[in-house]
Amino acid sequence: MPTTLPPNSPFYRFSTSIETRCFINNTFVETADKFPIYNPSTEELSAQVSQAGVNEVDAAVDAAEKAFPAWSELSADARGACLRRLAELMVESVDELAYLEAISMGKVAAHYPGEVRWAAALLQYFAGLATELHGETSLSTAGMLNLTLRQPYGVCGAIIPWNGPLAAFAMKVGPALAAGNTLVLKPSEKSPLTALCVAKLIPKAGFPPGVLSILPGFGAVTGAAIASHMRIRKLAFTGSTRTGRIVKQLAAKSNLKHVTLELGGKSPCIVFEDADLAAAAEAAALSIAGNSGQLCYASSRVYVQASIADRFVEAYTAAFRKAMGKVGDALDPDTTHAPQADAAQFQSVMGFIEAARTQGLEPIAGGRRVGERGYFIEPTVFLDPGEGSQINREEIFGPVAVVNTFETEEEALQRANDTEYGLYSSIFTNDLKRVLRFAKGLEAGMVGVNCTSPTAPFDMPFGGFKQSGEGREFSFKSLDSWTETKTVMMKM
Ligand code: NDP
Repeated sequence: MPTTLPPNSPFYRFSTSIETRCFINNTFVETADKFPIYNPSTEELSAQVSQAGVNEVDAAVDAAEKAFPAWSELSADARGACLRRLAELMVESVDELAYLEAISMGKVAAHYPGEVRWAAALLQYFAGLATELHGETSLSTAGMLNLTLRQPYGVCGAIIPWNGPLAAFAMKVGPALAAGNTLVLKPSEKSPLTALCVAKLIPKAGFPPGVLSILPGFGAVTGAAIASHMRIRKLAFTGSTRTGRIVKQLAAKSNLKHVTLELGGKSPCIVFEDADLAAAAEAAALSIAGNSGQLCYASSRVYVQASIADRFVEAYTAAFRKAMGKVGDALDPDTTHAPQADAAQFQSVMGFIEAARTQGLEPIAGGRRVGERGYFIEPTVFLDPGEGSQINREEIFGPVAVVNTFETEEEALQRANDTEYGLYSSIFTNDLKRVLRFAKGLEAGMVGVNCTSPTAPFDMPFGGFKQSGEGREFSFKSLDSWTETKTVMMKM
């Protein structure tokens, strides 16, 4: 039996009515196969969730196909109005959403309103862009009026990770539906509860049946059925580089559907001796401490100029500890240090730390579990483990940072770029010419100058170079990947 909170808890009323069924054609559907969600703060059972199989994916695609003609013919303004209303309803449900994310993947409930408002604002941003989707016209061929139409694909699929469930939800749902597509979305099996809670709001927001279906389940079953579905025309995926490679293959082997990929990272943050040291230490620490290190664009590889290394490491380590703060149940209003999302994630992060130890690399801070209940890990820092070490090269996805020292600008750029990832890079310096050289030279989809992630404005493209992805989210540009362009040539 899933745990129910005591009646005096502010979250009690939400704990007695958790939605766990698939959402297809504006109706909740229970399936025979269930999978458990455990609370990572307490290790107690939170819910048993219906697993969507191939039949549910087919039913959602049928409904999406049926809904598409009317939805895509609706005025862009009317589609935007549904997205705006959904955003408002999400903000009204902020406490319930905070409760559900805390008991599934351990987000700190006290911090969560900001994340819900962020997701709602993103939906509103795309609601506004719906009316801006235009083609081009050309009179450059004698006797002809030529033009382009930007048209939705039809039925699209989205597969999202667990680390920012509502953020990833909004990043797919906003542009897909604004552009007139219908969508079948699979949340992660670690964190499906907020998407299913939002599903309750979808009919209230005015979306017709079939426009947006939500199918919880495992990647190898539900995700693979979406990625290889013959009637899904476009797939937007966010997750690890390893799975990105698999879904791209499934898409290619089925109907060669268009694919956009938002993948992993091992983002460098370079700090020069002329930078504001305290500001750089704090920003770099906040980037890796956020969400307990479970962010794709976290600054997990720091490069600091040798002349300031001692002072920087001291300030950085202190700022990292302060940013993680107090361990506790994610529902407790005083907690600031979230647990890792589940047992597997905890073991994976501890596995990287232990593997480094067996190679003779001892962290200069942290490196241990906190307490014996819940999946909490200390903020952990390794110093100069070697450029080729596993801890410096692989995405760990936990509160584990590597600080490397360097001597020259050329060396810093070469080492920062020496990775197959290319999501987000940062540089801290007051030398404008150096800023320009690095803005050009860093191999990353996003470059922060005297700032680092989570800085990423909606109106600018978001995405990675190299094996960090393909395509861009956010910004008007992202609508390109949710529409097809048709060229029409007309003799006058
Ligand atoms: P995974 O790649 O493990 O999973 C992502 C999604 O893919 C999940 O819904 C998962 O399902 C599904 N999946 C797994 N296997 C398959 C398959 N064979 N076919 C289809 N779908 C499948 O990533 P995580 O969920 O662990 O998320 C962490 C990763 O996501 C990190 O690498 C992080 O960097 C990256 N990420 C990237 C972002 C970006 O914008 N670039 C943003 C956020 C995260 P299941 O439910 O079984 O897990």
